[in-house]
Amino acid sequence: MYEYRCIHCNHLFSLLRPYSSRDEQVICPHCQSDQVRRLVSSFASNTNSSSSGSSCGSGGFFR
Ligand SMILES: [Zn+2]
Repeated sequence: MYEYRCIHCNHLFSLLRPYSSRDEQVICPHCQSDQVRRLVSSFASNTNSSSSGSSCGSGGFFR
């Protein structure tokens, strides 16, 4: 599930599509415009956000 916002009419909608085609062309269902920008899904983020902020710290490599 990905959220999109139409740049043309500012309409916010969501589409269920696979990860591989998340950046494919999306047409706004409201004004049929292709000026659509994909938003970052909020519910996909990790729930354990006790220390929100610098998760990607400087020099913190995992491998
Ligand atoms: Zn639109």
